[in-house]
Amino acid sequence: MDKKFDFTAISDACIKCGKCIPGCTIHLVNPDEVTSPRGFIDLLGAYKRGELELDKEAKDIFESCFLCTHCTDVCPNSLPTDMVIEEVRADIAQKFGIAWFKRVFFTLLRHRWLMDLMMKLGWVFKTCGFKEEPSKGGMRARFNLPLIKADRLLPSLSKTSFLNKYPQEIKSGGKKRVAIFIGCLANYNYTSIGDSLVEVLKALDIDIFIPKKQKCCAAPAYFTGDFYTVETLAKQNIEYFESFIDEVDAILIPEATCSAMIKHDWEVFFTNRKMFDWAKRAKKLNEKIFMVTQWLYSETNLKEVLEKKGVKFDEIVTYHDACHAKKVQGIEKEPRELLKSVFTIKEMSDPNRCCGFGGVTMQTEKFELAKAAGAPKAAMIQESGARIVSAECSACRMQISNALYQNNVDVEFKNPIELIAKALREKQ
Ligand code: SF4
Ligand code: SF4
Repeated sequence: MDKKFDFTAISDACIKCGKCIPGCTIHLVNPDEVTSPRGFIDLLGAYKRGELELDKEAKDIFESCFLCTHCTDVCPNSLPTDMVIEEVRADIAQKFGIAWFKRVFFTLLRHRWLMDLMMKLGWVFKTCGFKEEPSKGGMRARFNLPLIKADRLLPSLSKTSFLNKYPQEIKSGGKKRVAIFIGCLANYNYTSIGDSLVEVLKALDIDIFIPKKQKCCAAPAYFTGDFYTVETLAKQNIEYFESFIDEVDAILIPEATCSAMIKHDWEVFFTNRKMFDWAKRAKKLNEKIFMVTQWLYSETNLKEVLEKKGVKFDEIVTYHDACHAKKVQGIEKEPRELLKSVFTIKEMSDPNRCCGFGGVTMQTEKFELAKAAGAPKAAMIQESGARIVSAECSACRMQISNALYQNNVDVEFKNPIELIAKALREKQ
């Protein structure tokens, strides 16, 4: 068996049936056998047998996977293509290094106080009237800056982060007590998600604990192959969660990617490095970690509360299944059931199709691929006739909001918890 992962056995187990190919996100935008799950598996097998050099071309190919997990979801042999690509990206990072702007970003993720400061400065610059200018190429090429053009919609920064806005304890009737793991995008950018969650929990008489020392779940680093950052953040979070897990009924996460990382990838990461004690500790925590709509639907009377309120909005909502919610965690019914109480849901033609976010590398150096993958999602949202698109994932929010903007589709994106809070706020 390979020291970390048996790539050869995985490669041998691929029966070449091709079931993974039609819905593969990269194959849809670049229809080539090389950029397909079957192709990736073949190349990875050759690399591990020493028949393929990990050169720039191979790097480029392995970095073009969106890690959407469609292949693993449909493969009759459940081959973990996404996981072996994540593993080979660590080899790529070791061989080629990690671009300086990503290293800066991951350093900020490891040091919350520094991230808070940078975000604060970012907000001050923004309010001073600094505007993003279109990239001129020269500077970008000289300093290897990521491709972020002014015609692209980026999430705005909030003046105060979610974690700095609220006290650690919010008493509210004491029916239950839950902790909130907020995720970086909802902490700094889409802060109305956390505001809405606090509002909904208060309405249900549930006490709230906001763990102030929580760190990033490490998903951005995991998808980029920075395993030092993954190990550091996962261990710090595990130790911290263990210090309060017995005093809460649940840890709620309003983000599919963070939730999948914590509930699934931490254990896989430690198992692959033979750190079995840490894998066991990560797995034990999972019993109490939930995505927000999953827990609210199964453990509270929220649906009944919403139905009793009798509010019905005219706006039609279409629901996008974030890959890390449906494919990784099997969550699709819960948010729809809650939303159906107050909105009319109209399904888009393929809610399960990946939006094309793809991670830090895809959103910077390979943004043209993300843009191509986002356009069909924007088109199907438009065709649904909905006024609002919802998904429990801020990475999808960033990608879909930009795709809608670039394709002139006038539809608003909301996390389901924001829509539920709006319904509870409504006067009859
Ligand atoms: S994870 Fe997604 S993009 Fe990558 S190979 Fe699998 S289906 Fe294709
Ligand atoms: S679905 Fe699985 S077995 Fe079939 S070609 Fe794809 S990776 Fe191979």
